[in-house]
Amino acid sequence: MNSISLRKQNGEIAEEIETNAIFVEMGYIAKTDFVKDIVKLNADKEIVVDKYCATSAEGIFAAGDVTDVPYKQAVISAGQGSTAALSAYNYIQKLRGKPASKTDWKSVNPVGAK
Ligand SMILES: Cc1cc2nc3c(=O)[nH]c(=O)nc-3n(C[C@H](O)[C@H](O)[C@H](O)COP(=O)(O)OP(=O)(O)OC[C@H]3O[C@@H](n4cnc5c(N)ncnc54)[C@H](O)[C@@H]3O)c2cc1C
Repeated sequence: MNSISLRKQNGEIAEEIETNAIFVEMGYIAKTDFVKDIVKLNADKEIVVDKYCATSAEGIFAAGDVTDVPYKQAVISAGQGSTAALSAYNYIQKLRGKPASKTDWKSVNPVGAK
């Protein structure tokens, strides 16, 4: 790599910068257009989820940077992934009339098990 070319939206090269490295920064817009008619998005186009990672659509769960969770970090996305997976499992268990995963205090009803 020797340089990068900055192009205008019409494709015309606006500037040529000599460099031998680049750092890719996180984007500014969540790519959620493909679910915009299925689940609720906020003004920043993030998928709105509750603490169980449930979306506005029954049976659809979401996790990670694409949701409205604050602090976009790897460990937070991974934790949310676990939450979404357990919630999806409990949702399916409920449909099958089977018990939910017991990962909460005994006094707490897991999502989908109420
Ligand atoms: C430059 C940079 C540095 C960072 N440094 C840190 C750090 O030091 N520590 C830290 O904790 N976090 C860091 N982060 C944040 C961390 O990378 C994210 O929080 C984490 O990767 C989010 O995980 P995710 O699974 O939600 O999303 P992603 O890791 O973005 O995974 C989403 C995946 O979905 C794919 N995808 C998108 N659209 C579609 C589609 N329509 N169909 C199928 N697949 C699709 C994408 O290609 C991608 O592979 C950094 C982020 C950036 C950009």
